[in-house]
Amino acid sequence: MSDLPVPGPAAHLLPPLAPFVGRVVVVGVSGGADSVALLRALVLTGARPVAAHLDHALRPDSAGDAAWVRDLAAGLGVPFEMARVDVAAVATRRGWNLEDAARRVRYEFLSRVARQHRAESILTAHTRRDQAETVLLGLLRGEAVLSGIPPERGRVRRPWLDVPRADVEAFLHGLGQDWREDPTNADPAQTRAWLRLDVLPLLASRFPGVEAALARVARLSREDDAVLGDLATRLTTHVSLASQPPAVLRRHVAQALAAAGLPYHAGQVDRLAAALGAGETAHVTLPGARNVTVTGGRLWLAPQVWPAPDFPLPAGWTLRTRQPGDRLRLPGGTRKLSDVLTDAKVPREERDRVPVLAVGTDVQWVGLTPPVWAVGAREAAGQPADPLQAAMGEALALAREAAQAGEVPVGAVVLGPGGATVGRGRNTSREHGDMTRHAELAALREAARTLGTPYLTGCTLVVTLEPCPMCLGAALEARVGRIVYGAANPKAGALGGVSDLLAAHWGHTPQVTGGVRAGEAARLLRETFRALRQPREPAYSPPPQLPPSPPPQSQPPLPESLIPASQPPAPSPQDASNDPHTTGSPPDLPRCR
Ligand SMILES: [Zn+2]
Repeated sequence: MSDLPVPGPAAHLLPPLAPFVGRVVVVGVSGGADSVALLRALVLTGARPVAAHLDHALRPDSAGDAAWVRDLAAGLGVPFEMARVDVAAVATRRGWNLEDAARRVRYEFLSRVARQHRAESILTAHTRRDQAETVLLGLLRGEAVLSGIPPERGRVRRPWLDVPRADVEAFLHGLGQDWREDPTNADPAQTRAWLRLDVLPLLASRFPGVEAALARVARLSREDDAVLGDLATRLTTHVSLASQPPAVLRRHVAQALAAAGLPYHAGQVDRLAAALGAGETAHVTLPGARNVTVTGGRLWLAPQVWPAPDFPLPAGWTLRTRQPGDRLRLPGGTRKLSDVLTDAKVPREERDRVPVLAVGTDVQWVGLTPPVWAVGAREAAGQPADPLQAAMGEALALAREAAQAGEVPVGAVVLGPGGATVGRGRNTSREHGDMTRHAELAALREAARTLGTPYLTGCTLVVTLEPCPMCLGAALEARVGRIVYGAANPKAGALGGVSDLLAAHWGHTPQVTGGVRAGEAARLLRETFRALRQPREPAYSPPPQLPPSPPPQSQPPLPESLIPASQPPAPSPQDASNDPHTTGSPPDLPRCR
């Protein structure tokens, strides 16, 4: 083939094929100009293409196309594979539209051929004109993301997405190569054909660069989408979704639905994302009659799988679902099971499916994620005490000590690699007149002294309140392996915020768990602020060494606007849980300590 003349347009067509030189690749060849040109260009560059033709059986003369492509491949000395599938019948049987069915069947066929021939890539001949049509169509349909046809997805590569269509025909003319015209491509009743034949030429008469412009929109939109999609991926379980921008929430919902293999319409994603952002409840029935719910700031993909007990049941314990009168003894006091399920934001229709272990109406264990244990139930079941619960208890004791001293009640401990406490700290900002004296910093410093190394790899920082950016930065500097916090801090918490998103750039991302004994931590904060409203309360009177006039937001006692609204200090089931989306944190927490 090297003796063939290389016509001028090949200057654009051949360079994108360089990665495939010497490689076996599958090319979908319909017989149209684009795919015929791609096949010939691949042969010219020295790739090893396999021509694959799918007869969609949509036109009476479609068998003629198959024979034509077979002869073309034979003439080029290229392996040829074909299949005939009644796409219309598949569409009817599976409930897909025709275009969708054709696309799915085609890619299934191409993948099969690729496996047979051990080809690394499947190439399609989409050009810049296809890209322009796709973007325009998306724009007219009101799609949120105009990213067009992706240059690659899985094994599929589309090397000519930036190549002007005119070059393709010029290339074929130069080779003296003909091709088959699909008559449906000339039928303006088809929206795509109408865009190609009527709309784009009209636009091009006023905007000669319209094809390139629309392709540019696709490229930029894809770049934006990748960033926003990445942010959505990082919405880990400790993030408050209500604080996220709608663009991120939409992608978060779409990713969750896609991961669960659930089909959806764009409007349904919008509704679910809006409910997440507004903290409202929304029920949506997806195609296929699958119900999903947003409630309590969380997306529930029914049917929910609730954890079953994974330990032998002690004598007298029975496994069942909830019953009237069920109660549960928690660190904060005895509560009704129904209130525990409500507080955990379990959707109403799911509550009768949550497994419960009980002795009579005394509930011992609730199969939430993670499970909630009654006080003493772990011991009764012979289960090891949760070391994080114990460590948080220690941190809470330090927080109470801080409250006694008139400080914002935050406590922290650092667990060493072996699980022992190697550092302890509480907030001492007021004592020192220094707003950087946070519990976490004190605990981290002590841990470094105890272990004799500044690097706390393998250590866990346990703190009662979600760390601020300063303390998260310190934990990252010290290479802390895991951060566990109690109450979320929607105002000043760094996790789930910008610093969390940037944490990956440190080359070290600690594992984060939020909501451990959150109710106790939040209650302690609420009580402290309530006491701060009563200046004569001796425990909270300002110490004499206050800084003269610090900025208002950092001045203890905290301004009225930062004090949580008074709420009944009800014990929360999250005292014994660490579900981050159901923390019992107050609506307002201090911006500074
Ligand atoms: Zn801090």
